Amino acid sequence: MSTQTEFTSFIPPQRTLMGPGPSDVSPRVLEALGRPTIGHLDPEFIRLMDETKQLLQYAFQTQNPLTMPISAPGSAGMEACFVNLLEPGDTAIVCVNGVFGTRMIENVERCGANAIRVDDEWGKPVDPQKVEDALKANPTAKVLAFVHAETSTGVRSDAEAIAKLGKAHNCLVIADTVTALGGIELKIDEWGIDAAYSGTQKCLSCVPGISPVTFSQEAVESIHARKTKVQSWFLDKNLVMGYWGGGAKRAYHHTAPVNAMYALHESLVMLKQEGLENAFARHQSMHNQLKLGLEELGIQFVVEESYRLPQLNSVWIPEGLDDATIRKQLLEDFNLEIGAGLGNFAGKVWRIGLMGYSAKPENVEKCISALKAVIG
Ligand code: PLP
Repeated sequence: MSTQTEFTSFIPPQRTLMGPGPSDVSPRVLEALGRPTIGHLDPEFIRLMDETKQLLQYAFQTQNPLTMPISAPGSAGMEACFVNLLEPGDTAIVCVNGVFGTRMIENVERCGANAIRVDDEWGKPVDPQKVEDALKANPTAKVLAFVHAETSTGVRSDAEAIAKLGKAHNCLVIADTVTALGGIELKIDEWGIDAAYSGTQKCLSCVPGISPVTFSQEAVESIHARKTKVQSWFLDKNLVMGYWGGGAKRAYHHTAPVNAMYALHESLVMLKQEGLENAFARHQSMHNQLKLGLEELGIQFVVEESYRLPQLNSVWIPEGLDDATIRKQLLEDFNLEIGAGLGNFAGKVWRIGLMGYSAKPENVEKCISALKAVIG
């Protein structure tokens, strides 16, 4: 017996995205996405690639020639950093203060390398003293890895201090900047970060599915000096450089998601036009406005103000309220998405994102008034 289904176009609802990502995508970026598709080796597309690289160098505050978007989400950027910089038998020190630190451990182990774990409590930043102790205890460690902006908790760690410690102990420093890029200060070159990966769906407010990455010269030399092949063909930087590396001749590596790259380019042009400092100030000022509204509702922050991320606000769910019921009501009655808690924080915490295009007064007002209506 067969049933016949009539399929029609998918029309998504118009949501306000205030979770941990994706964030609202600006109409400018959506418009760019719908422009005519051209070939991924078309001279005009190559011009867009060159500009995208320069714009990413601005966003990351780096001169690294190996700065490019990977045609896959943030998790692929994470994997690219680990598979290129680690070989079997290497040691990596990994800071864990939330979900994304634990994913780094997984990556290290899947490279056949040894992970030395430096734990900090969820909701607290990475403790540089513990990092220094681990570096001293493991003088042969090749990599030091940490998450700059831990999306699972809303904590900002001191990337500058951690990276400088790693460099002082001759490590290659890997930073997860998925939620940081475009939202808080990030200085790849000045701080000495050797490899960083990000995502397009957070403070860049672009469509999800692309991961900007950057590698220092020292990281590139380490990749060239490998004794073993990078175990992932797609993420092997030696190979993708032929396409993204610049120079007169571009060789086919994979078919780039052409229209998604238009969107990324547009979102980076928007960031450049606003200016990094102004973007950081806007995220902070929207956080301040949200904080006032939440305080009036009696909602408490999980993270202390001095290391709280303005773009990702973790708050304790007030006593007696059911997490899923409230989020469902916000979605159904107000078209508003806020995030659930992850891992240790599941059921206890909400994560309210103020990222990129979502970091604007109308969104803060909508969130506060919707919460007021739902929780009373
Ligand atoms: N790292 C951090 C800090 C994240 O917040 C995320 C996604 O939320 C990722 C890595 C993985 O990115 P993606 O979901 O784009 O694969």
